[in-house]
Amino acid sequence: MFPGEKAKELLKKDKQYLSPSYFREYPTVIEKGEGMYVFDVDGNKFLDFGAGYACCSTGHSHPEVVRAIERQAKTLLHIDGSAFLYPSLVNLGEKLAEITPGAKNKRVFFGNSGTEAVEAAMKLSRYATKRQRLIAFYNSFHGRTYGGMSLTASKWIQRKGFAPLVPGVTHIPYPYCYRCQFNLKYPSCNFACIDYVEDVIFHTTTPPEEVAALFVEPIQGEGGYIIPPDGYFERLKKLLDKYNILFVADEIQSGMGRTGKMFAIEHWNVIPDMITIAKGIASGMPISALVARASLMDWETGAHASTFGGNPVACEAALVTIKLLEEKLVENAKKMGYYLIGGLHKIAEKYPTVGDVRGKGLMIGCEIVKDKSTKEKAPKLRDKIIRKCFENGLLLLGCGACSIRFSPPLVVEKTEIDKCLEIFDASLKE
Ligand code: PLP
Repeated sequence: MFPGEKAKELLKKDKQYLSPSYFREYPTVIEKGEGMYVFDVDGNKFLDFGAGYACCSTGHSHPEVVRAIERQAKTLLHIDGSAFLYPSLVNLGEKLAEITPGAKNKRVFFGNSGTEAVEAAMKLSRYATKRQRLIAFYNSFHGRTYGGMSLTASKWIQRKGFAPLVPGVTHIPYPYCYRCQFNLKYPSCNFACIDYVEDVIFHTTTPPEEVAALFVEPIQGEGGYIIPPDGYFERLKKLLDKYNILFVADEIQSGMGRTGKMFAIEHWNVIPDMITIAKGIASGMPISALVARASLMDWETGAHASTFGGNPVACEAALVTIKLLEEKLVENAKKMGYYLIGGLHKIAEKYPTVGDVRGKGLMIGCEIVKDKSTKEKAPKLRDKIIRKCFENGLLLLGCGACSIRFSPPLVVEKTEIDKCLEIFDASLKE
């Protein structure tokens, strides 16, 4: 059945002409997207609960976003925002300064992809603090360029053969309470993972006065949709403040309304020094941003730039996307998130292989295990479930060692969630 005849031809060419480093999630070729659905070249229709890796925040080809793109494409395609100003560039900068946590007195740097925003944050943190070292987390994903890859500690395949990486990065354990690296339980652990940073890391390998910044995903995305427990970020920020270390929130996956707040870090009482944004910001158009306090983003003219960063068409798409998020979709993510998590919990009760269900808004993960009591990871079973869902007309994506992510477009409605739950349940049964 899959791939269909037309897809088969194109997949053959894919093997011949495209980089084999690409990972093909499904044996199909997508031709068209509309709202919550995508269609392949052979006419198969899929309910999309992956949203192109959380990018299609307003659904596929939202008419208002498309209209803005068409309008701007007819007016000005490119002029280079690092040298020329155009209205949408500065209007989007102002909007991002306004909607990110903290006072509005911020500045914005635009890139094209998530990893480019992370690179900018790495450069700015070293530049602003005159310190060299950086801290990131195990299981994290920050991108695939040399800087982003050096912070990333998700899968060895993303690093193998590419050494030496950018020096000066120390990795620490993420608060992954379902599989605590210290074998402790929240809250009686009293955040032993943070004490470990101060008592062990800062005393042995990483002098804190040399650390420029800590990079953290407020909810780990590629690493498995992992949510830190309440109080974690407040304690972490206290430690960073003690040593004047910058807090960089990588909101590339968790930001732009996905978790039921505009930024995931707003679920906790912490104001980051810098925020990186991409994915959902422009409904799938390529644009990213680094937002920092104005006093921090104070580098000299010419210190950093990007030819295509903040392209006029992508900026217009972002402005309309933010308008739609503010009007309704952030709230919808919150409401529909509760509904979807509730449904997944009910399914989890029926199957010993659904070990954990966790999420905020529409950033939801299900961890697949051999058995709930042992929590033994079941990556092959996870892949099989995703494949079954695909064959039954539902697109889901894997993350972490053995988790499945539910990250639909934020326009999702109850009927589509019911359909998703029905297919997921039936596929688990199969
Ligand atoms: N940071 C996070 C949290 C991500 O999830 C991703 C991509 O998945 C990136 C950075 C890298 O973004 P990009 O693939 O656009 O470079």
